[in-house]
Amino acid sequence: MMKKFVYADHAATTPLMPEALEAMLPFLKEDFGNPSSLHSWARHARKAVDEARTVIAKCINAEPDEVFFTSGGTESDNWALKGSQGGVMVSAYEHHAVLNAAASEERRGRRIVRVKPSKGGIVSSRRLSAAWEDGVELVSVMTANNEIGTINPIGELAAFAHRRGALFHTDAVQAAGHIPIDVRAWNVDFLSASAHKFNGPKGIGFLFVRKGLKLAQLLDGGQQERGFRAGTENVASIVGMAAALKRNCECMGENAAHLDNLTSLLRNGIDTSFKRVVYSGEKEGPQLPGFTSVSFPGNSAEGLLHMLDLTGVAVSAGAACNSKNTQISHVLKAINARKEVARSTIRITLGPENTTDDVAAILRALRRFVR
Ligand code: PLP
Repeated sequence: MMKKFVYADHAATTPLMPEALEAMLPFLKEDFGNPSSLHSWARHARKAVDEARTVIAKCINAEPDEVFFTSGGTESDNWALKGSQGGVMVSAYEHHAVLNAAASEERRGRRIVRVKPSKGGIVSSRRLSAAWEDGVELVSVMTANNEIGTINPIGELAAFAHRRGALFHTDAVQAAGHIPIDVRAWNVDFLSASAHKFNGPKGIGFLFVRKGLKLAQLLDGGQQERGFRAGTENVASIVGMAAALKRNCECMGENAAHLDNLTSLLRNGIDTSFKRVVYSGEKEGPQLPGFTSVSFPGNSAEGLLHMLDLTGVAVSAGAACNSKNTQISHVLKAINARKEVARSTIRITLGPENTTDDVAAILRALRRFVR
């Protein structure tokens, strides 16, 4: 039988879309100018960066000068946390970009308050309120979780933080390009995104900073990004990111419908093939399109992942950055998953290019290897 390669790890990273590559190519070849120079090469590059900023701002309902380009989600999260002041409240199942930035600020003397999500993987304002401490000046809760795909009520959480006199940051790295983002409707102060999670290039992202607010700069140097983020702009990647976000926002409904259909097929197949399965984070609210976090108790997630890989099916066990390490994921711990469940949880994240044949191949592989 021919080996079928199926990529089902879109929460780790996504393939670069052709529209993004096409948009990038001129800036990797003839239009190589530095946007800060004063000749026509520079003007091309400057215009492209400005246009990309406008496109991205429109996709999240922001103003162009509220968008700051960064090297990705990790930098955006670090900037929001380290560039702010006062105590910080974070949820306990944030990505390590937020959790480790918070821990590093804690070592420097800042008060960090960690809030557990519910068992279903949702952070509510009630939870923030129960854990509230005076002195908290920034609340950071992710839009959607990267291991279980649950989506938080960001507007409600931002309103709560503001009522308590704090600013609100959300890590929207998993959400951007996949569910609608509206920084005005949500009334958030800072929002992080990363292009490689929405079919853009790796190593580029942005931080939305609401007009009138200032974060301390993370990098000292030149005057790029209005003096707040020094370093020659990654022009090609910025242009590719804008093309990818625009296209994904245009196709969002269509992609979500396709992914919902594939996810139902996958879950029906799992439910009819296996007696004991436990899904994480699905009952209380919406999940990201294409997201399935499922445990096959009695199996090792890592072992299963490697077996699936041998047959050409790529999934993940917990977060990608944890996949070499058999420790139980901090996300599954935070939602009180039983150890037996956590050890056997794999994450299957489908993308728009996946097909019903891909789902059939995943199910075949699972039936072959799950004990
Ligand atoms: N935040 C979340 C929720 C993520 O899923 C990731 C990547 O896995 C990051 C931040 C880090 O983003 P980047 O890979 O662009 O540094």
